[in-house]
Amino acid sequence: MANIGLLGGTFDPIHFGHLRMAQELIEALNLDTVKFIPAATPPHKARPAVAPAHRSAMLQLAIANNTGFEFDGRELLRDGPSYSIDTLRSLRSELNAHDSLVLFIGSDAFSQFNTWHHWQDIISLCHIALVQRPGQAKPDGLNEELLSFLHDHYTENSLDLVREPTGLITMPAITPLAISSTAIRAQLKNQQAARYLTPDCVLDYIAQHRLYQGALPC
Ligand code: ATP
Repeated sequence: MANIGLLGGTFDPIHFGHLRMAQELIEALNLDTVKFIPAATPPHKARPAVAPAHRSAMLQLAIANNTGFEFDGRELLRDGPSYSIDTLRSLRSELNAHDSLVLFIGSDAFSQFNTWHHWQDIISLCHIALVQRPGQAKPDGLNEELLSFLHDHYTENSLDLVREPTGLITMPAITPLAISSTAIRAQLKNQQAARYLTPDCVLDYIAQHRLYQGALPC
């Protein structure tokens, strides 16, 4: 039986907030692997600043030295908005019914979860690890619909997620890192150093391809 973590995002660019969260959740949730899944066209966010090929290349460089991390490019192969429900159905079709899937969602993204395409069906395909992001509203600030969804599926014991394949929400405590792609893009645009926010290999790639220099979105 496999236990697989999933981190979807725009990764525009990937940073240590993503990488550290994935590492801590592998350990906290006894996962075998984490799949990093870049969105082609994120349905709930502005158009990414750089092309999918650059976002994927930076992601692949950043995770290359971690055997527990995998790149999964399936959303880049689909046309239209990158809906998580489609990704989960596609992953499920490749897995054993007992395999456990855990979708990682930061608290900023979760606060809009009830607007996601077929959001109520998502929990029948995976578990959710809800991660508190520094400076973002706490779960008690969620709207009624999300609070009751959280209440219905919540488990305090994160290890329940490896006993069942789907259906649970946990809120593991991780090291809070107030790093965002938005702040990194702003720093690069203002010619400030983004060192120690993302791996050097990502910064080298950004410099080599002259990304985030204030050009219009691709
Ligand atoms: P942007 O600033 O462009 O909105 P971002 O930094 O939020 O980007 P995404 O690629 O959109 O990065 O994030 C993918 C997922 O990772 C989301 O669920 C998001 O909440 C989560 N996440 C991003 N940064 C952190 C962080 N520092 N700590 C915890 N979760 C994070």
